[in-house]
Amino acid sequence: MGETDGMPKDAKYLFRLYMALKQYPEAARTAIIIAREEQNAGQYRNAHDVLFNMYEELRKEGIKVPVDMQNNLMILHSYMLVKQHARKGQHLIAARLLIRVANNISKFPSHIVPILTSTVIECQKAGLKTSAFSYATMLLRPEYKNQLDLKYKKKIEAIVRRPDKTEEEETTSPCPYCDFELTDMELSCPECKNQIPYCIATGVHLTKADMGACPKCDFPALYEAFTKFQSGDDSVCPMCSEKVAPGDVVRVQDITKYLNTNFD
Ligand SMILES: [Zn+2]
Ligand SMILES: [Zn+2]
Repeated sequence: MGETDGMPKDAKYLFRLYMALKQYPEAARTAIIIAREEQNAGQYRNAHDVLFNMYEELRKEGIKVPVDMQNNLMILHSYMLVKQHARKGQHLIAARLLIRVANNISKFPSHIVPILTSTVIECQKAGLKTSAFSYATMLLRPEYKNQLDLKYKKKIEAIVRRPDKTEEEETTSPCPYCDFELTDMELSCPECKNQIPYCIATGVHLTKADMGACPKCDFPALYEAFTKFQSGDDSVCPMCSEKVAPGDVVRVQDITKYLNTNFD
């Protein structure tokens, strides 16, 4: 123990101990606590990696991953993807991911204003003007207004003063369980009520037609999107951080392994 990753040592020790004793529910609970502390301190990468490692360990042991843990990992992962898409000029994906993050803003207590600001900026760039307006309005509340970066203050006030209520409509794709068409970012099917796993490269829900997975961590993704994502300058998997070349992305024919099993 005692690595320099900022994790509280005793919680980490406890986690290892529970794992060694095969007390998996206790280990999972400890991991959630460690991740929450990291998250509250604004250490999102650490929190992500704690949950990811726990997830992998539980999966290896054939144990169901608690829904809480899956949700937290999904939201943190969505946040981690934002920067990479924004940098590549994929503003629509960045904006949609940020909307998901902003809807869970209480999980990012040390960066509420910067994240909401990024949401407004990316939504504006992506043509999601209605969303930009609603998050800009939120930022002008008294509790946030004084923390606004002066660089963006005028812009945000202008968005609220002259509301432009046009919004690019979100594309849809079929639910992999029941084929109901739902918007891409939706992870809960309104028709069959199933939770749908997300693509680790874009955050959208999986579809049967275009399935892939990381050859290292085996997390699922849309094949095309993941391959494209890996062709950038850094070709590490966004989930496990292992090197994955575009040609290494696994094509998945049978999606069932990635469905149901992961959720309670
Ligand atoms: Zn469905
Ligand atoms: Zn991976």
